Amino acid sequence: MELVDPRTLLLVANLLGVLCALVLWVQARSFPDDIEGLRDWAKAVVLVACASGLASLRGIVADSLAIVAASAMLLLGQFLLVIGLRRYAGRTPAWRPTLDGIAAALILIVWLTYGSHSYQGRIFVMALAQIGFFGVGAWLAWRAEPAGFGRRFLTVVFVLGVAVAVWRMATLSNAVDEIDAVFDRNPVQQVYLAMFSLGVLGLSIGFILLANERLRVELEFMATRDPMTGVFNRRAFFSRAGIEWARSARSGRPLAAITSDIDFFKKVNDTHGHHVGDLVIKDYANRAGDMLRVPDILARFGGEEFVILLPDTGLAEVRQVAERIRREIETSPGNGLPRYTVSLGVSAAQASDGKASGIEALIAAADAALYRAKERGRNRVET
Ligand code: GH3
Ligand code: MG
Ligand code: MG
Repeated sequence: MELVDPRTLLLVANLLGVLCALVLWVQARSFPDDIEGLRDWAKAVVLVACASGLASLRGIVADSLAIVAASAMLLLGQFLLVIGLRRYAGRTPAWRPTLDGIAAALILIVWLTYGSHSYQGRIFVMALAQIGFFGVGAWLAWRAEPAGFGRRFLTVVFVLGVAVAVWRMATLSNAVDEIDAVFDRNPVQQVYLAMFSLGVLGLSIGFILLANERLRVELEFMATRDPMTGVFNRRAFFSRAGIEWARSARSGRPLAAITSDIDFFKKVNDTHGHHVGDLVIKDYANRAGDMLRVPDILARFGGEEFVILLPDTGLAEVRQVAERIRREIETSPGNGLPRYTVSLGVSAAQASDGKASGIEALIAAADAALYRAKERGRNRVET
């Protein structure tokens, strides 16, 4: 007794696959260009669906289609999964050696079909290829960014694919190439093909989840960062600073701020050009950022003006941090950039529950100190 007619199962699995390919294709078109590999996966899913469709027509269509062409599509489809993952990781895929391997496998398949008539030999070759492709797939999926559910899901499905292929190899001696009189075709093979299509469907869903997580991370980054330097923008600074203020009010620990402005920056632009000016701004963000601790929040407020919020930091300590930044910036930046200096203003406060957020006042105090640093000759720290 059958729960599901194998042919119906196969048909549904392949139709779902084509729908998944459609989703992948639409995502490939609408996602940012740096999220690559979705097109390869869309093609892979279609290839696998066509391959299993053709294979299920064994006995109706010629063996050159049901076996040779189907094997070619299956191998290419599996290879495209790997290619897509490599592209997703930002690497240029290497086609050549694997394509040669696929060609060799197909020659072997042709011989096993028309020469030695070895069904088991064909299963062996295809299962071996599946172990190879899915093994590499599992490895690439495991290392894909970002870490999250999509990547775990994808890795598990790849590993299951390897397990199924290993199981197929282990039961090789039981495999019989019987064309069932009732179903016209081999029902075991049809169920296997349907499982295969469903597996690729599961993979696609995993890849779609992974790509969506990556998109979310990228959008969040773009929404909170200054594109030029990669440090926080003003809006992200204030939302994080508000949280730090509340935390400080609860813990009773002080909170400090540093505002900074590069000295005579107009001259840098005038003498060396706007491009070098940009590089100097990036250099400042890098070098100042390197002097900070993990919880410190560095933000670009505009032009060459940066603000740093330092949780758990008192006045004496923040003065030292600012002085260290000033001295570091004084030294030559290297990379052919001109030497430059920076003026810094510091302030510290004890957050209290009364005020909703004293961040603005804290920054204003640091700004006033910065103004004094400029007045008193620049390249200095004022409190
Ligand atoms: P001071 O020592 O008083 O700070 O003198 P300054 O020349 O640095 O004066 P100010 O801070 O007012 O100059 C800011 C200049 O920075 C003005 C503007 O042309 C330039 N600037 C603002 N944003 C950018 C940017 O993104 N890239 C470059 N290259 N220049 C910028
Ligand atoms: Mg300036
Ligand atoms: Mg300025």
